[in-house]
Amino acid sequence: MITLDHVDDLRAACEGARRDGRSVALVPTMGFLHAGHRSLLRAARAANHFVVLTIFVNPRQFGPNEDLDGYPRDLAGDAAVAETEGVDVVFAPPVAAVYPEPTRTTVHVEGLTDGLCGAARPTHFDGVTTVVAKLCSMVGPCTAYFGRKDFQQLAVVRRMVRDLDLPVDVVGCPIVREPDGLARSSRNAYLADEERSAAGALPKALFWASETVVRGERSAVAVTEAVRAVVATEPTVQLEYVEVRRADDLAPIDVLEGAIVVAVAARIGRARIIDNVTMTVRGRDVSVDLGVVAFDGDEPRSWVS
Ligand code: AMP
Repeated sequence: MITLDHVDDLRAACEGARRDGRSVALVPTMGFLHAGHRSLLRAARAANHFVVLTIFVNPRQFGPNEDLDGYPRDLAGDAAVAETEGVDVVFAPPVAAVYPEPTRTTVHVEGLTDGLCGAARPTHFDGVTTVVAKLCSMVGPCTAYFGRKDFQQLAVVRRMVRDLDLPVDVVGCPIVREPDGLARSSRNAYLADEERSAAGALPKALFWASETVVRGERSAVAVTEAVRAVVATEPTVQLEYVEVRRADDLAPIDVLEGAIVVAVAARIGRARIIDNVTMTVRGRDVSVDLGVVAFDGDEPRSWVS
């Protein structure tokens, strides 16, 4: 494994790999790696010859009053995880390597970025798409791995790749959870003990929402009310939104049919936590994807509440 922090070196390493006939995988992260990131690295490792992990806390995707300065960082720990997961290149550039001068270019995906997290974080997705486009340009043709935990991000990135004809295959990976269902997140480190146990209300609420659908509920309003009712049992969990959307284009829906997502965001103490459950509804048949449970070294297994 090598660690690089210059764009030219990253480009040369990826070009070299492709010249040797090796397929390249890109796993973009902000570091402070956990089992969710590991699952992306494993998927990338299993299907490609050359795995690039990027670690970059991208200032452009943080709003003015957000947690850029306090975002948890642990490059030494991340390098150890990367080594264990068989990563070939860790690209951990300083901000000046990615943005050597004030940029005048922003990649903006219309529509998909307006609601859900885009409502509370109006500049966030422009920061994400701009840096992901730059990383794709640095790495070149590749398969890029993203988690379905950040469901809106995944939809936005897929659309950007399509609209810009980027030579990138986007792969979405299951949500990795802790045993009580809380989705793994670097920001879970912000939670005090009582907040951490209260946070379990979010996956519990999504599980109950999916149960109502399995039992026949098809009204989006009723499903969001089911989520609200469970979250309300934990006053420390301040729900920012709960919405039912069509999975592919995030269009709002009233009646559940086809591939849908129930997405939530909540504030717990100083952490902002997002989560979702996806379902495919075909008449009376419902398949539910709540993701998997994994400890750090474990193989993931399905999560049931
Ligand atoms: P981040 O470091 O938070 O920017 O996340 C980097 C990538 O890891 C994104 O594609 C996330 O969706 C993915 N990811 C983060 N947490 C999880 C999780 N619990 N399960 C699956 N993927 C995750």
